[in-house]
Amino acid sequence: MSALLEVNNLEVFFSVYGGSVQAVRGAAFHVNKGETLALVGESGSGKSVTAQSIIGAMSHKRGTKLNGSILFKGKDVLKMKKRQLYEIRGSEIGFVFQDPMTSLNPTMTIGKQIEEGVTLHQQLSKKEVKKTAIELIRLVGIPDAEQRYHQYPHEFSGGMRQRVIIAIALACKPELIIADEPTTALDVTIQAQILDLLRDIQTKNSTAILLITHDLGVVAESAQRVAVMYAGMIVETGTVEEIFDSPKHPYTWGLLNSVPRLERNERLTPIEGSPPDLFEPPRGCPFVERCKYAMEVCVQHLPPSTAISGDHRVLCWLLDERANRDIGERGEQI
Ligand code: SF4
Ligand code: MG
Repeated sequence: MSALLEVNNLEVFFSVYGGSVQAVRGAAFHVNKGETLALVGESGSGKSVTAQSIIGAMSHKRGTKLNGSILFKGKDVLKMKKRQLYEIRGSEIGFVFQDPMTSLNPTMTIGKQIEEGVTLHQQLSKKEVKKTAIELIRLVGIPDAEQRYHQYPHEFSGGMRQRVIIAIALACKPELIIADEPTTALDVTIQAQILDLLRDIQTKNSTAILLITHDLGVVAESAQRVAVMYAGMIVETGTVEEIFDSPKHPYTWGLLNSVPRLERNERLTPIEGSPPDLFEPPRGCPFVERCKYAMEVCVQHLPPSTAISGDHRVLCWLLDERANRDIGERGEQI
């Protein structure tokens, strides 16, 4: 499998009064054709900013500076002109937002809103456009597609509205769908249905999905690979099995401990403390303030990236021989 999307050393800075905030600090990950990569982390970890950067929404923006590269099918999104970005957005990359209510136009029928997506990048007759829109409504599992075509967003439930958003994202037959917390606003049963739908679409069309979520339950259900993000950095990547069965980063351990496992009736232990201030990011490991295993070296130096296996990489001093030698010899554990 070759990578459809490759994010390399991405840095995103925002100018704010009196300085700049670095929301993304050297993120690197890739999404293969037809797979789901889950980008996981707490809110404020830089997940959404990363997603917005991939669709070019951060480029050409005042007060925003981006470094690194984002290769989509080998072409660097960060070097694209506005027109190229417009072409790629909605024709090759579809976007599904968190809140279906605010991303739909309340004054337009859903049929017309889906049609806008259909006509954006392809020349079809009016009749064909309508037919395609109705097929999409059917594809996302909304019953009575012909009647629903004429209805307005307020006539749909939250879950059905999210299906409409997915239909719009699919209208241009994208190779990659970026879904930013697509089920967060929905109740559990509807969440499961929407995740099923995304999985079906992926199987049918071999669409790749970058699934952004803070919910590890969602990850286990939907993704093949995982990238764990913390304070603007990817601290661990691996397959779902590697992340769930043999996680190596203390932050990932913390995230997994805060997932309810009903069958074992375990108590939840949320990770104590809060992420660092990215106005003045820590010199060393971003997790140092909250990590039970922190050593002196973690305060002073950024942890190196250690490869556990081909896909499994971890950014932590615990896996580096040099740090362990230090603790052994000088007892520098703090
Ligand atoms: Fe903890 Fe150090 Fe690893 Fe950071 S590098 S997660 S502080 S052990
Ligand atoms: Mg977000």
